[in-house]
Amino acid sequence: MKTEFNVPIPVKRCFVLSIISFFLVLTACPSENGSTNTKTPLILISMDGFRWDYFNKTGTPNFDELIQSGSKAKALIPVFPSKTFPNHISIVTGRYPENHGIIANRMYDPVFDEFYYIGEGSAPVRDGKWYDSEPIWVTAENHGQKAMSMFWPASEAEIMGVRPSESLVYDGSISHNDRIQQILSWLDFPAEKRPGFISLYFSHTDSYGHQYGPDSDEIKEAIQEMDRTIGLLMAGLKSRDIFNKVNIMLVSDHGMASIHPDSIIYLDDYIKMDDVYMVDWTPISSISPLKNVDEIYSKLKNIHPNMSVYKKGDAPERYHYRNHRRIQPITAVAHEHWSISTHEYSATDDHAEDFNGATHGYDPAYPSMRGIFVGHGPAFKSGFSGPGITNIHLYEMMCSILGLSPAENDGSLDSSRVFLVN
Ligand code: AMP
Ligand code: ZN
Ligand code: ZN
Repeated sequence: MKTEFNVPIPVKRCFVLSIISFFLVLTACPSENGSTNTKTPLILISMDGFRWDYFNKTGTPNFDELIQSGSKAKALIPVFPSKTFPNHISIVTGRYPENHGIIANRMYDPVFDEFYYIGEGSAPVRDGKWYDSEPIWVTAENHGQKAMSMFWPASEAEIMGVRPSESLVYDGSISHNDRIQQILSWLDFPAEKRPGFISLYFSHTDSYGHQYGPDSDEIKEAIQEMDRTIGLLMAGLKSRDIFNKVNIMLVSDHGMASIHPDSIIYLDDYIKMDDVYMVDWTPISSISPLKNVDEIYSKLKNIHPNMSVYKKGDAPERYHYRNHRRIQPITAVAHEHWSISTHEYSATDDHAEDFNGATHGYDPAYPSMRGIFVGHGPAFKSGFSGPGITNIHLYEMMCSILGLSPAENDGSLDSSRVFLVN
């Protein structure tokens, strides 16, 4: 089977080329309204919780091939909090959580008077009103390109009146093989229906990391399974003779750090739990005091060397976690390897596993919280190894690759250009 794609031409060269080939009507130049019908698809793949050092933990022949003929960053640095939804939405919007609105996996909105939560069957995840910024698939569709999602947080919602041309409601039981077959079948669509942007998501390394920890034998098996899965995609692209004609961005949202039941900070040692409402728990606790905020704050601040406590607006500037109505009056941030709980909760048998294994959410400055970035295809340098970059810069990178004019965002192409050919 053979699928033909036009490789996009850098915009600067378009003017000259369009004069030379006036009657040939080259299709890769952006049109007046910025739309483009480039036929080089971009496949954005997330392997949840794939820590930056996982490539070196076990044999990964397929990742190795992708890396050797592509461009790799030392790490992909997450935004605060280093949780799944805030980071996946930052990757596709280029905005910090306080600007895109998904400041946690679990949050309360005082205007909607509703809670947001993630997981299979979540209604708020599918409700576009929660998202304040434009994801790449909306930008692509608005420019006349088709976007298709084999899962990505929020891709199942209508955002700013737009949905991807194809998307699926999250169902973790769909096999890795079936996910790959789905995107290959989209790539087999006739030219006019073929996607410009595709997303693909796997939770496997996150689940194994939480349960067994980042240094376990089990995580090595999970890494090998992801290597096998990317190998299946690469084989499918090669059999269509398009492996070197599509652009692939392989990313993860955060890393993973071990936790232990001996490292729990018990809030009920310091405050009456009846005096607060806990919107989110560990390792980033969102606390809504039912009494005076200052009173609760003074009881919690400086109580533990492994927990930082901030009043709303006082979190470190580099967290970009100050200005959204969903940020609660007090945020307690556990330090790496520590958990926040109460004696009552953590003593329950059902919850014992919450404090064993590993987790994430911590300060993005910890190396353990860092993820991966690999780019492969005509847009990316080959055999290049570059510095770590923050994930807010990837939206501009994707817009540049797809020839789209970006929506307002917090990133810059200057930070990610080093990985690109042009
Ligand atoms: P975290 O709790 O930060 O480790 O988040 C990982 C979890 O996010 C996965 O195990 C899934 O249950 C959930 N998840 C991932 N994608 C989606 C989605 N599109 N919709 C709802 N939940 C999701
Ligand atoms: Zn995650
Ligand atoms: Zn996780």
